[in-house]
Amino acid sequence: MIDKMTNYHMTPDEFRKQGKQMIDWIADYYENIEKYPVLSQVKSGDIKDQLPDSAPTESESFGQIMSDVNSIIMPGITHWQSPDFFAYFPANTSGPSILGDLLSSGLGVQGMLWATSPACTELETRVLDWLAEMLQLPEKFKSTSDGGAVIQDTASSAALSAVLAAREKKTNYQTNDSGCLGNLVAYISNQTHSSVEKAIKIAGIGKNNLRLIGVDENLAMRIDLLENAIQKDLQDGLIPFFVCATVGTTSTNAIDPLNEIGNICLKYQLWMHIDAAMSGTAAICPEYRYILDGIELADSFSFNPHKWMFTNFDCNCFFVADRSVLIKTLSILPEYLKNQATESGAVFDYRDWHIQLGRRFRSLKLWFVIRHYGVNGLRYHIQEHIRLAQQFAGWVRSSEEFDLVAPAPLNLVCFAHKNGNDFNRKLLETINSRGKMYFTHTVINGQFVLRMSIAQTNTNEEHVRQAWENIQETAKELMDVY
Ligand SMILES: *Cc1c(COP(=O)(O)O)cnc(C)c1O
Repeated sequence: MIDKMTNYHMTPDEFRKQGKQMIDWIADYYENIEKYPVLSQVKSGDIKDQLPDSAPTESESFGQIMSDVNSIIMPGITHWQSPDFFAYFPANTSGPSILGDLLSSGLGVQGMLWATSPACTELETRVLDWLAEMLQLPEKFKSTSDGGAVIQDTASSAALSAVLAAREKKTNYQTNDSGCLGNLVAYISNQTHSSVEKAIKIAGIGKNNLRLIGVDENLAMRIDLLENAIQKDLQDGLIPFFVCATVGTTSTNAIDPLNEIGNICLKYQLWMHIDAAMSGTAAICPEYRYILDGIELADSFSFNPHKWMFTNFDCNCFFVADRSVLIKTLSILPEYLKNQATESGAVFDYRDWHIQLGRRFRSLKLWFVIRHYGVNGLRYHIQEHIRLAQQFAGWVRSSEEFDLVAPAPLNLVCFAHKNGNDFNRKLLETINSRGKMYFTHTVINGQFVLRMSIAQTNTNEEHVRQAWENIQETAKELMDVY
């Protein structure tokens, strides 16, 4: 029963006790994670049906809550942190990141303005400048020049911020005042992530003013088709304003030609945004930095440490070459937020750099991760993931039964069994239903394609080797049945 003397609150002593047990719980989870089926095997409603219809009237003990976590919640978890997780894209965590996130929760800081916690803003600025250096970004993206960066929740929000800034720059900040006229046109490839289409819809550009540019045999945007589309729109009296180039598409890891796209943006005065949500991380390794060649021509760039850089969701880093455009687009200053530091102009107020007002102290976890691993530690793991993916691609290439169906430049391998779409679908479903590993699919030119995304924090050579054996054996088994 609760102790009324504590006002229902958890006492510091109780918090200390439960907190230590929680850390133990998480450490045990990581030690035993390979014992769980990677893909949750519950059916829809299974979890909800075990939860009461209404909230408890009286206080319940922490022990009761954790007991329900174990019995009700855990069966409904798909284990993204399992080293046998090869689905979608990584969403990896790490010890230092979890602890940084916990500290952020403990401090409970609301970092909307510099004045609401100077450390929250200044650490973020510094760590993002570190990242700019780690990725060898052009000077213009650093806070020490005209640009700078901000941590956003997701690559989707970053894309929306980029579209809005591009819109305002092109219309001389008139759209913010008068609304959209329906004559701005944006360009992406037919492989671009759906979040950019969503941004175009939200920003009032209109889906009819979004051109999906065709791709070449490597699934990268075709420059000739891009330029043709821009010229046609100009002839029709429309106003081209925005291109999104992708480094590492979600479907197949294709890399758009940044230099060529950048030159077209320069020629026609379009905003160039680069979405490198997962693959951007690879550029911290000098031998993979080439994937960002041409970024000098970009107006904005974003990547997600919450995918492949051992930093808990959410953590997107959004860089702009000219912060004044972004700030002028998104800044609103109501009376209740006015303060001397803001008025002096000497500080960043990050609420002017993204959609929402409130913000967590997310740079803590990023700072912890970069300091814990060091640049060399991060490089080591990225290089290792890419080595394992390349080894897997080699096995596929030399196999009689499977084909590689897209170039595998980094850590994602797209492949298919020679027996056709239905067989590949059955193969995927069978393997995932058995829980030993989890991987997903895409469709390329009508072909059902299997995807191995090799980037989970703790995946090593043995996991990848076992996955390949599992795939081959299950395929043999299904061949006997069919
Ligand atoms: C994952 C991904 C996104 C979406 O990321 P969020 O941070 O979840 O919005 C966008 N673009 C690419 C290329 C991605 O891989």
